[in-house]
Amino acid sequence: MSAMDLVHQLTNSNSSLAHIITNTSIVNHASYFQIYEQLQQQAMIVDSFASNLNIIEKLWASWYIYIDNDILATGLLFFIVHEIAYFGRCLPWFIIDNMVPSLRKYKIQPTKIPTMQEQWECCKTVLKQHFLVEALPIWLFHPLCSQLKITFDVPFPGWKVMAAQIAFFFFVEDLWHYSFHRLFHFGWFYKNIHKVHHRYAAPFGLAAEYAHPAEVMALGVGTVGFPILYAYVAKTYPQYDLPSLHLFTITLWIVLRLFQAVDSHSGYDFPWSLNKFLPIWAGAAHHDEHHHYFIGNYASSFTWFDKIFETECGTLAKRRRENNAKVKSEESYKKKI
Ligand SMILES: [Zn+2]
Ligand SMILES: [Zn+2]
Repeated sequence: MSAMDLVHQLTNSNSSLAHIITNTSIVNHASYFQIYEQLQQQAMIVDSFASNLNIIEKLWASWYIYIDNDILATGLLFFIVHEIAYFGRCLPWFIIDNMVPSLRKYKIQPTKIPTMQEQWECCKTVLKQHFLVEALPIWLFHPLCSQLKITFDVPFPGWKVMAAQIAFFFFVEDLWHYSFHRLFHFGWFYKNIHKVHHRYAAPFGLAAEYAHPAEVMALGVGTVGFPILYAYVAKTYPQYDLPSLHLFTITLWIVLRLFQAVDSHSGYDFPWSLNKFLPIWAGAAHHDEHHHYFIGNYASSFTWFDKIFETECGTLAKRRRENNAKVKSEESYKKKI
């Protein structure tokens, strides 16, 4: 797509989902909720297209019809979802840190409660970065989707397809994050880039995206780059029969990844935290130790890569490594006898 085509699409008011609503004369002057209401009414008609849509699909379609410009609709959607998911998920941690001292017994570093000033400074920096660093890639995402045949039409794919794709993104992002995070702890990279993120030795929710813009970009590739790569492979190699990727799946994946990032910086490890039921899940305990020791525990979502590459930190991990080394040396000694 040429730059002129892009400008034309950006300025051309035209929604590809408008066909869903039969009475388009009302659509042009309707509010978002009026459009949703029309879809609801159409859904009452048995065998109509809308009757097969669930609530989320109707809300999604209403958004694209309401904005009436697909590039603008995707750009705005991504930006709004990012802000709501990130700050919305930070809010419970902010409340717990500042207003619920009874939960402090679950704080991993209980003596290090962030001050209001620290939280406010962090909030301002993150917000500024959202506008500066992430605004442009967000607006360019829809044209890229069109090129890679990432669909945004309704209905959505089945939940099993979405779950499998999201599970794959979690796995590869974790490996990407592990590799780049480990690289960021080397000399020049640490001093000039990653040191910013390590300003807080005891992290809190808002600190998840407090980082140098270069780090936000590099680690962001792990989140957005793999869906793009997946869509590229699915389009270029149809013989693999990969299910096509939907924009809703990418949105859901980004929301879950944001939740994971905020939670891992929360500083709280509850008896009901996910890592207590799913031991491969890293959670806050894993990443808090990284901020505390400045070394080890580089992965984002899972514990396996730090185990495999022997980069776990903390006293428990040290003891486990020493035990493993002892067992190995005993085994090799027995073999020699
Ligand atoms: Zn680090
Ligand atoms: Zn961190």
